[in-house]
Amino acid sequence: MVVEDEPKIREGLRDFLEFHEFSVTDVQDGLQAERIVSEHRFDLILLDLMLPGISGEQLCRKWRQQGLRTPVVMLTAKGMEAEKIAGLNMGADDYVTKPFSLEELLARIRAILRRLDPQRSVGQQFTFGPFTVDAEGLKLLGNGKESPLSPRQAEMLQLFAANPNRVVSRQELYEKVWHESMDGIETRTIDMHIARLRDLLKEAGAKKELIQTIRGAGYKYENRV
Ligand code: CA
Repeated sequence: MVVEDEPKIREGLRDFLEFHEFSVTDVQDGLQAERIVSEHRFDLILLDLMLPGISGEQLCRKWRQQGLRTPVVMLTAKGMEAEKIAGLNMGADDYVTKPFSLEELLARIRAILRRLDPQRSVGQQFTFGPFTVDAEGLKLLGNGKESPLSPRQAEMLQLFAANPNRVVSRQELYEKVWHESMDGIETRTIDMHIARLRDLLKEAGAKKELIQTIRGAGYKYENRV
C-alpha cells in the first residue's frame, strides 16, 4: 500500500511498483489508509510522513500500538534528520528521504520482504568457507555450533559468497548491503563491520582469515581449494 498525498509521487510509485510486479493499493490520506488497513492485509506499507488529516507518524504509532506488524517504510522530506530518527522510533522499519531514487527504494523493499517472508527467500542457505549460512534464520552453522548473525552480517556474507576470489570494494559493500550511496559515509564504518564479522567467524571456529583486506581496493573472500 502506498500512502501519499502528492498525486505525482503517489502515481509514480504505483506505476513503478506495478512495473516490478507488485500489486499496489494507493491512498491519499491517513484516514483512508487507516480504514483500508483495518480491512485488508498488506505485505508492506509505504507511508508518507506529512499527510493531511492524520500524519504518517501518528498513523504508524497507532498501528504498532494496535499490534499491526506489517513493515512500514516511511517517506520523509529532505533534510529532516530528526524526523528520520522519530520515524524509526515510532515503529517504521526503514525510511527514504525525498527526493529518493526508485531503484534504492525497490532495493529496500526487497530487503525487508526477503527478511520477513521466508517464502520469498527460498535458497537462502549458502556456503561460506567451512560454514553454512542460514540467511533467513540469521545463523552461521559449522563445527557443531550455531552463531547468531545480524541481518547486515548475513547480507555481507551473501555478497562475498556470491563473489568469491574477487575484490569487493567498500563502495560496493555500501551500496549492496547498506543500500545507500557512499556519499558522506566514513569507510571506517565498513571496516568496523568487517572487523566484527571476522571476529565472529573466528569465534565460530574459522581456521584462517576468510575475508582478506586488499590494500586500497577493498575486501576479498578467498575460496580456493
Ligand atoms: Ca505529503
